Amino acid sequence: MPIQEQAGIHVIESLDDFAEARVEAVGFIFHGSIPVVKGKGKVSSTTNLLHFARCARLEKIGDDETKIWFRSVRVAHKHLDEAVGDKRWKWCKYCEREITQRVLDEA
Ligand SMILES: [Zn+2]
Repeated sequence: MPIQEQAGIHVIESLDDFAEARVEAVGFIFHGSIPVVKGKGKVSSTTNLLHFARCARLEKIGDDETKIWFRSVRVAHKHLDEAVGDKRWKWCKYCEREITQRVLDEA
């Protein structure tokens, strides 16, 4: 994952990219509809969700959704609050059960 790796953020632009991120199962993956990515700007009722990269629910997400990989929860929260809005995204309900204070403290 070459681009922006230092920042801990990687916009997933292809299915190969997505598959790789899932195989590595490190970090977190957001999917949804956010206006910052050109050409994918239609803001719909699509749910904006953040998952652990290993979450099985990620198999079901649409090809046309924006997908972003994050190295850490901290990076993900910051980016999503800025790019999507702090009330406009949420944790996947399955992943949410796995969140512990330890996860939230990871930097
Ligand atoms: Zn999930």
